[in-house]
Order: sequence, then structure tokens, then C-alpha cells
Amino acid sequence: MLIVYRYHISNRKVITPKPTQTAHRKGVNKKMPIIFIIGTAGSGKSLFTAAFSEWLKMSKQDVAVVNLDPGTLKLPYSPDVDIRNYVDVGNLMEKYGLGPNGALIMAADLIADEIENVTRDIESANADLVLVDTPGQMELFAFRASGPYIVNELTREPKAMVYLFDAVFSINPFNYVSNMFLSAAVYNRFFQPQVHLLSKCDLLPRKEVEKITDWAANPRALEDSIEQLEGAKRLFSRNILHAISQIGLKFMLIPVSAKTNEGLINFNTTLERILTGGEKYTS
Ligand code: GDP
Repeated sequence: MLIVYRYHISNRKVITPKPTQTAHRKGVNKKMPIIFIIGTAGSGKSLFTAAFSEWLKMSKQDVAVVNLDPGTLKLPYSPDVDIRNYVDVGNLMEKYGLGPNGALIMAADLIADEIENVTRDIESANADLVLVDTPGQMELFAFRASGPYIVNELTREPKAMVYLFDAVFSINPFNYVSNMFLSAAVYNRFFQPQVHLLSKCDLLPRKEVEKITDWAANPRALEDSIEQLEGAKRLFSRNILHAISQIGLKFMLIPVSAKTNEGLINFNTTLERILTGGEKYTS
């Protein structure tokens, strides 16, 4: 539908960042990290956001959770900031005669127009750390203009992307390399520090989890597994792996489970190192 493409981010009003407001409240030099959880549909973004935010709260960390998915019907957490207060997929379907997919695409674009409201709501939440659960279908966030626009315009710093590798999908080297390829494409859209998680690791036997994390830590092990693939898959995987190692992206994978909370300590230590030089978010 034509209407879906009427948005041009470059024509939009540029919102002037207002970093000093929050800086005054929280102390001028205080770091106020914001983390975006991203991954393919069903990779576990929302449940991970729920589990990690609960875990942080139990560790006495002051965290706010943002839902950026206008199409979600049910969330496993209560968001402090919710894009559904501003963008209504049902209304878009009705008003423009769109089907669910068209309305979702339009909604994803409209999120960018709500940046001022989202920024204000995040500031009102006044938390030390902000977790953002991004839209279910990753391409609606990462591969349209609105996603990078939102990540850039939200005034909090430092920022990080957290990319979820679904453990069940990543079980063979071909799928694993395809996922590396996707996550490199995501990195290329945002150019922010990116942490990689192996989500839902409770669903795999320990040996399989170790095999996948070994692929991440040790490219030789991955090359060996790739050599056992057949024909075109072997060629594709080998070439993608070489291309990714040439651009120097590191793929350390932290296994996590939103069901058992496995790996959350490791993940948090990594985040603290990247974002705050090892300091807690709330001291
Ligand atoms: P999203 O689309 O990326 O936000 O994925 P969801 O968080 O909605 O999760 C998709 C499905 O995977 C749901 O049925 C979740 O219950 C399930 N799921 C998510 N994380 C885990 C996990 O760590 N372990 C298990 N066993 N299931 C999970």
C-alpha cells in the first residue's frame, strides 16, 4: 500500500536533545545507559527483558523498561514506557484499510514521530538504566529508517545493542552463520556496542550449548563444523565467516535463559564493563 511509504525520516522535525534535565537530577557526570534488546521474531526478546529487569530489581538496580512494539498484545512485564499509548495498530488498520502487516509497517515508521513523547516518559521514569524491548519483527526496527533514528535520538548515554541468537535455531553451523550474518547487518545499521546472547539455552542439552559457544569463542571450531556441511551451504558459510572476520566483529556469545535466569550474572558483568567501566548502574 502506498500510504505505508509516505514517511521520510529526513523530512521530520529534528528534536533537540535535552540531556541537562536528567543530568541535573542524577548528577552531572553520571552515566545513564540505555540498552536495546534485538533479535528475530520469537528469539525471546520480551521474556528476556522481563527476566533481566526483574533480576536487576532484585539486585537493587534502578531500571525502567520500555516497550517499543506497537503490535504486541500481551507482554510478560509491565512497561514503564509503552509505545502502544501513542501508536495503535488496530486504529491504523481501520483508518487506512490496511491488513495486519501493512499496519505493523506503518506503525513501526510512526514510532519515530513519537520520539518526543517516549523521551519525556523515559525521563519521567528517572531510572539509572533503561531496557528497551524492540518490535517483535526485527526488520521493522533494524531495517527501516525509524530504528536507527530512534536509537540516535534518545538522549541517554552510553548505548548498547543486545542481539539474541535463538539457541534452538542456532544448533547447526549453517543457521549459526546465518545468524552471525544478520547480527553483523544489525551492527551495520546502528554502529553501537553490541553484545550477543544465546537465548533459551535451557531448551538445549548442555553439550549443544557448549558446542555453540565454542563456535563463537573459537573460529577454528566453527570452520571445522562448516567443513562438514554439504555443497552450497558449506561455501556460503565459509565465505560469510571470512567476511565477518575481515571486518573484525567479535562474536562472544553468552548463554542465557529467561526461564532459569542462567547467564544473567555473566551478561550483567559484561554490560557493566562496556557501559560503566565495571560500576553498578545504581550505587
Ligand atoms: P520475542 O518475539 O523475541 O519477543 O520472543 P518472546 O519473548 O515472545 O518469546 C517467544 C517464545 O519463546 C515464547 O513462547 C517464550 O515463552 C519462549 N521463550 C523465550 N525465552 C525463553 C527461554 O529462555 N526459555 C524457554 N524455554 N522459552 C523461552
